[in-house]
Amino acid sequence: MYIPNKYNPYRDHSLFVHCISIEYPDAWHHLIEEFVEWIEMFNVKNKCFFGFAQIKTKFGKLTIYMQDYTASWEDPAQWSNDTDKHMTSINEKITRIVKKADGTCRICGRQKEEIVINTKIKMICFKHPEELRKI
Ligand SMILES: [Zn+2]
Repeated sequence: MYIPNKYNPYRDHSLFVHCISIEYPDAWHHLIEEFVEWIEMFNVKNKCFFGFAQIKTKFGKLTIYMQDYTASWEDPAQWSNDTDKHMTSINEKITRIVKKADGTCRICGRQKEEIVINTKIKMICFKHPEELRKI
């Protein structure tokens, strides 16, 4: 269910040139795709070049690390240098993608549903209730 580097669909993608590893459940691929399309637009719009440093799952959570490669562009002088400002917008988008991944079953890609366990609301996939095993 994980995409090893050599089969990774983004192997030859310019945004992944500096990416050290890419690993996430297949069922989350559409979310990664959504983010890749978003960051492509973001880079064009802001005349910057943010690329992927790493994509992985950490404690079951989708984790995306981005890096500002704007300065390494062929002619850095024409690009803006607002790394922090841009990173704030990028992190907001990442937070939304991670939230969607949290609500998407990593095995089948179905939308998880809310149930109450020990008075706490949990999101689970009824076909693959991984969360129930942790109780
Ligand atoms: Zn499932």
